Amino acid sequence: MDIKRNILLNPGPATTSDSVKFAQVVPDICPRENDFGTVMEFISLELTNLVASSGKCTTVLFGGSGTAAVESILSSVVDNGAILIINNGAYGKRMCEIAEIYKLNYIEFKSSPIDGIDLNELENKIRSYNINEKQYGITHVAVIHHETTTGILNDIKGVGKICRKYNIDMIVDAMSSFAGIPINMEEMNIKYLASSSNKCIQGMAGVSFVIANIEALEKTKSIKSRNLYLNLYKQYSYFKDNYQMRFTPPVQVLYALKQAIIEAKEETIEKRYKRYKSCCKILWDGLDRLKLKRLVKDENASMLLTSIIEPNISGYSFEELHDYLYERGFTIYPGKICSTNTFRIANIGEIYPEEIKNFIEILREYFHEIAKH
Ligand SMILES: *Cc1c(COP(=O)(O)O)cnc(C)c1O
Repeated sequence: MDIKRNILLNPGPATTSDSVKFAQVVPDICPRENDFGTVMEFISLELTNLVASSGKCTTVLFGGSGTAAVESILSSVVDNGAILIINNGAYGKRMCEIAEIYKLNYIEFKSSPIDGIDLNELENKIRSYNINEKQYGITHVAVIHHETTTGILNDIKGVGKICRKYNIDMIVDAMSSFAGIPINMEEMNIKYLASSSNKCIQGMAGVSFVIANIEALEKTKSIKSRNLYLNLYKQYSYFKDNYQMRFTPPVQVLYALKQAIIEAKEETIEKRYKRYKSCCKILWDGLDRLKLKRLVKDENASMLLTSIIEPNISGYSFEELHDYLYERGFTIYPGKICSTNTFRIANIGEIYPEEIKNFIEILREYFHEIAKH
C-alpha cells in the first residue's frame, strides 16, 4: 500500500517514515500481557539510553501529549521549596500556568524571547532567594531546551552549572529537542527531562515521557500526591514492578514508537542533528534569496525551527500561503509570539534536504504569483 507523502513543517507531530506508520498494524493484544510489557521495557530502556546511562536514569511513560509529561514533573517533584521557572516563550509560560494551578511556590524568571538567557541575572535571582528565605529556598529550576515558540535554543548547560552550584534540581522540557539535538543528562546536570513520541524521535502522537534521575525520583516518594493520573512516582514504581502503565496505554502508538527508536539508533542522534542542520541551512539560504527575515539570531537559533518575519508585501496573507503550500504537500505553521508577526517552519522529522529545496522553490513561486497581481 502506498501512503501519500506529506511534508510536515509544523513543529510536531513531525513527518514519519512509512515503516513507523506500518509498525502500528499489529495483532490485537491486551497491554497487560507480558509480550506487551517487553515492548514497553524496550521503549523505556532505549529512550533512557539516548540521553543517559540506564543505571542512573529511568524513563516513565504516560499516555498523553507532551504537556502531560511536563505537568507530571511539575506536580510531582516539588515539595515545600520554591521552583524558579524560566519563561522566554509560550512553553515557559505554560509551565508557569501549571505551577499556578497546582499552587506551587513558584518564581517566574522572564527572559527575552529572542536573546539568550542572562545567566548572571539568573544566578543573582537564585542567590537572593536562597539567602533571604532559607526555609523556602529554591529547590528546582525549570527551563525549556528548545523554545518552539521562536526556535531559540536555551543554554541549559549554563543553567545546569548554576543549579549544581546551589544544589538545585533542574527540570528540562526537551520536547522539541530530544532525539534531535544530542543531550547528556549527567553532563548537563538535568534531573528530569520531558519529551513526547511525535517530535524529533519521529513517532506517532500519544505517548509522553519523563526521563528522571533515579536518585532524585526516589526522594519524591514521600511528597503528598497532588493528582492521580499524572503522579510521577506512582507511575514509576508501578512500571518498575510490572512493566505496565497504570492506565490503558496507547498500544499501537507504542509499537510505532518502538520502531521509531530503532530507526533513531540506526541513524544516531548526532547524524540526525546533522541532517536537520543541513535542511535548515538550505532553508536559511532560500529565505535570504527571497529576502525573508528571520526573528532569532543565528547564534541563538536551534536550527530545528525558524521563525520568519511576515513580509510587508501587498497581496501576502499567511492563510493563502499556507493553502498554496498545503495543496502541494507542505504544511507550515503560524507564529506564536505576540510582539512580531511571524510564521514558523520546523525542519524536524523524516525529511531530507532535497525536500526543503522543493519547498523553497514552491515558496518562490508563491511570491512570484502575488507579485504579478
Ligand atoms: C510540543 C511542545 C510541548 C507539548 O505540546 P503538546 O501539544 O502537549 O504535545 C511542550 N513544550 C514544548 C517546548 C513543545 O515544543
